[in-house]
Amino acid sequence: MVDVDYYEILEVSRDATFEEIKKAYRKLALKYHPDRNPGDKEAEERFKLINEAYQVLSDQEKRALYDRYGKAGLEQEGFSGFSQRSYDDIMDFFEQVFGTSFGRGFGRRRSERKYPLDLSLEIEISFHEALFGTKKEVEYTYKVPCHSCGGTGAQGGQLQTCPECHGRGQIYYRQGFMTFSQTCPVCHGQGEIAQAKCQQCRGAGYEKRQERLQVEIPEGIDSGDRIRLQGKGNVAPDGQRGDLYITVYVEEDEHFLRHGDDIYMEVPVFFTKALLGESITIPTPRGERELQLKEGTRDKEQFRFKGEGFTNVRTGRRGDLIVQVRIVYPKRLNEKQRALLKELEASFGVEGKPHEEPFSSIFQKIKGWFGK
Ligand SMILES: [Zn+2]
Ligand SMILES: [Zn+2]
Repeated sequence: MVDVDYYEILEVSRDATFEEIKKAYRKLALKYHPDRNPGDKEAEERFKLINEAYQVLSDQEKRALYDRYGKAGLEQEGFSGFSQRSYDDIMDFFEQVFGTSFGRGFGRRRSERKYPLDLSLEIEISFHEALFGTKKEVEYTYKVPCHSCGGTGAQGGQLQTCPECHGRGQIYYRQGFMTFSQTCPVCHGQGEIAQAKCQQCRGAGYEKRQERLQVEIPEGIDSGDRIRLQGKGNVAPDGQRGDLYITVYVEEDEHFLRHGDDIYMEVPVFFTKALLGESITIPTPRGERELQLKEGTRDKEQFRFKGEGFTNVRTGRRGDLIVQVRIVYPKRLNEKQRALLKELEASFGVEGKPHEEPFSSIFQKIKGWFGK
């Protein structure tokens, strides 16, 4: 341990209160923080000492030992100071103090907020709104810091040092020779608690505001996609505002099915049209189209309309419309139709009996199995 007086390091008197020590530590630690003094070895050493001093003087037990026996007394108790410890240990300690008691963007850890800054919302749109894009009006509620208590939740903004953890935000307890720490359950790591709950917000620290927004939904958006509206979330006491995330759900359509950026639709086709390869007019999501069947179109055969699907929101490329044929046969035949079909069948000759030739040898084989 470096032999410098801890009170001198923190520039406080020997009878300084915890509040004074904490204040001094905060001021000096921020001043000599390595982030603010990159590459400055002297500042780094100073920063280590400041943290070491605070670790001792902020702890009643350690402070009493130090006051009475000096550093030797601490060493006997197994406290070796930070000087020989790793840099990470010091940073952890610094953040434990600042991250919980002072917070606000310094250090890696953040103090717990009374409410999260980002908001999320869900909206449902129809299939065609997703296909072509749309504008939707959303009305939502967001939080702003209570004007009466400044977001602290305390009457008149009056906070007092947490009596449980004495403002450290952490409580320490010993088990055997080990010292453990945990977030203070009374102040939840804030180090401060309300003297009395704010009557305006009942201690919640916020009030609610309504907002109406026009949301631009781009064409091609898919179920589960999120739209981020920057700076439309909750407002923090320091004025920082979170974002609003809108998750979009697209209703299913009874005729069209989306798969990736492609759209599928089924077209019922009478068997004669499929055989003849005729052309039929079909209703597609982007308007009427002519579907030119080919001669002898089979059931479930697919025809592709390039670029008639969804626009991909990321790449801007268009998917296809895929039309699947479902061949429809007549349910009943009248006498005339029956006669016409018989005549048609006969006109095909051997082609109308595709089963005969391949089956003749199989018939022979099966007969053999029965010993004939
Ligand atoms: Zn309030
Ligand atoms: Zn506490």
